[in-house]
Amino acid sequence: MRDRLSADQYANGILMGDRLLLSRAITLVESRRPDDQELAQQVLDRVLPKTGHSIRIGITGVPGVGKSTFIETFGKQLTSLGHHLAVLAVDPTSQRSGGSLLGDKTRMETLSMDRNAYIRPSPAGDSLGGVAHRTRETILLCEAAGFDIILVETVGVGQSETVVHGMVDFFLLLMLAGAGDELQGMKRGIMELADALAITKADGENQAAANRARVEYQNALHLFPPTGTGWFPPVLTCSALTGEGIELIWQTIEDQQRLMVQNGHHSQRRQEQQLTWFKSLLRHHLEKQFYNQPGMDERLKFLENQVRIGQLLPVPAVQALLHHHPKEH
Ligand code: GDP
Repeated sequence: MRDRLSADQYANGILMGDRLLLSRAITLVESRRPDDQELAQQVLDRVLPKTGHSIRIGITGVPGVGKSTFIETFGKQLTSLGHHLAVLAVDPTSQRSGGSLLGDKTRMETLSMDRNAYIRPSPAGDSLGGVAHRTRETILLCEAAGFDIILVETVGVGQSETVVHGMVDFFLLLMLAGAGDELQGMKRGIMELADALAITKADGENQAAANRARVEYQNALHLFPPTGTGWFPPVLTCSALTGEGIELIWQTIEDQQRLMVQNGHHSQRRQEQQLTWFKSLLRHHLEKQFYNQPGMDERLKFLENQVRIGQLLPVPAVQALLHHHPKEH
């Protein structure tokens, strides 16, 4: 048995803002060991009353758009205003390829030295759902530790944007000026999720193109159906190098949050997110339970083959699987 702290020790440490215990608790959350998982749940349960009091901001954009540079500048701005900032990431590629899109150590060097900032790389998980689940719990731990702004960065590939959108109060989409139609088409669905768009690298020679892109995207956004929250997503420009436009992005987030709190959409969004989290977790566990039944692998393989060669149609094959009770045989 390892030398273990109790749930109370973890919880008290986190509530006092102890970074080391926070990190260790996040490691528990990310662990696959059942005893770690159980302890993590006990810690979460104890700190739960102290969670929820942060602004959760999602940041996405294709690789190369300037996410990490933006987060450095934006993060410094926030800490200079006296905020305590936690930066988390959702990167489902991090364990598959070995090399993650977000995780390399040289990123956010200045911010990582800032005493009021805490940076935690993406958990490794077997699925995007698993990574998202762990990040949600990590958000709660960071809030309990006193961070009043949580940034969740996503890689901007696959479904990670949708998943991060489902855990934040404000979703910021970073875009490049002059990106091709193909890319813009691909991002249409993501644009609809955004609470604001920011055209990055609006400096030097890029400035004019960034301004043109701003107008184009603003026109494109007008064609989308209204959000139904009374908020109209603006398109802004910014430069992480010069710092221009960064302050306005923060003001925009504050404005949107004020409005959402006033008109009740803030709590409505959070409640829907909680419910979605619950449902996806339930689905995940049902699936796991189902596939882990004794003899399931062989039965599945057998039926798959039957279906493949046309001996059995999918519906009766599924019925055979669902109504088969291993213990009766
Ligand atoms: P990420 O892949 O989205 O995290 O992008 P990075 O933050 O790593 O930035 C990609 C490249 O764009 C790097 O070479 C940065 O130096 C450059 N870059 C990032 N922000 C700016 C900016 O505001 N202005 C200019 N000119 N270049 C930038």
